Amino acid sequence: MKAWSLAGPGRLELIEADAPKIAADDEALVKVEAVGVCGSDIHYYREGRIGNQVVAYPFRIGHECAGTVVDAGPRARALIGRAVAVDPAVSCLMCDQCRAGRLHTCRKLQFLGCPGQLDGCLAEFIVMPARNLYPVGDLDLAHAVVAEPLAVSIYAVRRARVTPGMKVGVLGCGPIGLCALAAAQAAGATVYATDPIDWRHETAAALGAAWSGNPERDDVEAEALGREPAGLDAVIEAAGEQAALDQAVRLLKPGGALAVVGIPEAERVSLPIHELRRKEIDVLNIRRQTDCTEAAVELLHRRPGLAAAVVTHLMSFEEAGAAFELVANQDDRVIKAIIAGR
Ligand SMILES: [Zn+2]
Ligand SMILES: [Zn+2]
Repeated sequence: MKAWSLAGPGRLELIEADAPKIAADDEALVKVEAVGVCGSDIHYYREGRIGNQVVAYPFRIGHECAGTVVDAGPRARALIGRAVAVDPAVSCLMCDQCRAGRLHTCRKLQFLGCPGQLDGCLAEFIVMPARNLYPVGDLDLAHAVVAEPLAVSIYAVRRARVTPGMKVGVLGCGPIGLCALAAAQAAGATVYATDPIDWRHETAAALGAAWSGNPERDDVEAEALGREPAGLDAVIEAAGEQAALDQAVRLLKPGGALAVVGIPEAERVSLPIHELRRKEIDVLNIRRQTDCTEAAVELLHRRPGLAAAVVTHLMSFEEAGAAFELVANQDDRVIKAIIAGR
């Protein structure tokens, strides 16, 4: 089969690879029909690492995908022929973390397109356990890919304990931030959103943010706190920027929750401990997600405008290199590029 492989920083190559084989009763062979380019993929693509997770070349990239099940082991045959969204995290189900319901921090986690773990999904086929496959019905497969980042955002909003009537800040309006906006709205919250790239926060406004702005130009605290003098109940930091973390703390009310989803380029970030302490802010680190993919698929069905706003570019399988460059350079008002079809 054909697959894209990273030969070095910024060097994607189309290769011929062995098609994966079903090795267990509960596994299914998925014909991959749509793959999303994620910010984390761009870290691997450009820098060859995220923190101490370092790429060894050649590296098969990609973890966001959707496709059709074309074959399956005896215990997964009900999925054959069905269109599915893929949860890229394969957990062992045996370790202390899995037994505690923390499948996402499994000690033996095998994640698609993650260094030293599973080959990426930017290929014609993948094999996954049936429990990682979520039927999407008649959802457009390019939109079904958004189930992966949306699941992460739903998880962040759940962790921040967002309930109806709450005021939520979303700092960073890339795919995760826009999905967090939708997840918070679905939980009944009013959302304030920022991004230093204008078309991104404008997309948040189009999706119904109560206010959106550019933190490099607008006085975000005056705008948000002018409308919500008590402060925000929760902030989803989806920028991976020190300035956004600092701003989040200033926006939050006492007892508020700061959910950190963004991946910083720096090894360390700092937080203003006295303000955190006096306000008793809960700082929540978000490691991908667990148990939120089904809710994500459901929200995509309920709100088709979300994926339509997030997916800005559809490219062919052969154009994968161009798709990565587009996202890496943030050209052409890109939010999410999907590599779809052949
Ligand atoms: Zn991703
Ligand atoms: Zn485990």
